[in-house]
Amino acid sequence: MKNNSETTNSGTLYICGTPIGNLNDASFRLIETLKKADLIISEDTRTTKKLLFRYEIKSAKVESYHDNTEEKKVNEIIKKLESGLNIAMVSESGMPLISDPGFKIVKICQEKGINLTVIPGPNAALSALVLSGLPVDNFLFIGFLPKTGIKIKKKLEELKTFPYTMIFYESPNRIEELLEILKEVFGERQICLARELTKIYEECIRGSISEVIQILKERSRKGSKIKGEIVLCVCGLNIKKTEEFDESVIKNELSSLIKQGLNKKDIFKIIMNKYKINRHDLYNIFIKLNKF
Ligand code: SAM
Repeated sequence: MKNNSETTNSGTLYICGTPIGNLNDASFRLIETLKKADLIISEDTRTTKKLLFRYEIKSAKVESYHDNTEEKKVNEIIKKLESGLNIAMVSESGMPLISDPGFKIVKICQEKGINLTVIPGPNAALSALVLSGLPVDNFLFIGFLPKTGIKIKKKLEELKTFPYTMIFYESPNRIEELLEILKEVFGERQICLARELTKIYEECIRGSISEVIQILKERSRKGSKIKGEIVLCVCGLNIKKTEEFDESVIKNELSSLIKQGLNKKDIFKIIMNKYKINRHDLYNIFIKLNKF
């Protein structure tokens, strides 16, 4: 077995991140790599062809690949790499392997000492996390939960005391059921439902689980059921208990420090020291103040 850093005479498998909706998010390196690759292997050849069309990459050869691709075809891809061809791997959107195909072939390449590299690109989980307004210093990516209510509950039971922000992928058809189960298992928490990121109808719905459920119900009642692609960020359990504090006092203090032009990090430091409020509670007040 060879280290990733040891180059061999093989070609290279390029693990390529592609846009999660907005085709303008393709990087120069991605376009260059797709142009130069001897072959592009793709989870969804139709989506890939749209990307190639947008960037006028006419010569590319695209073949389908997913984790259930038959062994014979996988062996052919590996042989091509071993013979020196360069292959770009893309998924339907975002980073391959992240709730998407690719792990199996990367593992084989790594075991066989075939050159591997990554062309980093957009990813829905991280995009949602940085927009969420929830703590980002530590987080856990869960991806898709199991499909049945009982299994979802079991998984959430394992996570309910987890102290850091958690990131879930979910379909619009199941999001309301997930929120109900989440409320039952976790109790009330701050969450952010990030939808259609980088696309025309991008939005983030922030609030407690009950507030977000209410917003979705209200929309449903008005005939606009939630649609599109969704990432759900959920605040971890707040373990450190905050001493009693007066929210209006903290709000005034926050507003005054913001007006003074201090940055968020310093503001948090000052208030946390002065009032013995923990970061999680302070974030919640900060979010309310900024009318997220
Ligand atoms: N590999 C992708 C990545 O790096 O993010 C994830 C692929 S996974 C099969 C698809 C799920 O990602 C969707 O069901 C949704 O939960 C999330 N997703 C993808 N694009 C999104 C977007 N533009 N906005 C919100 N969520 C998105």
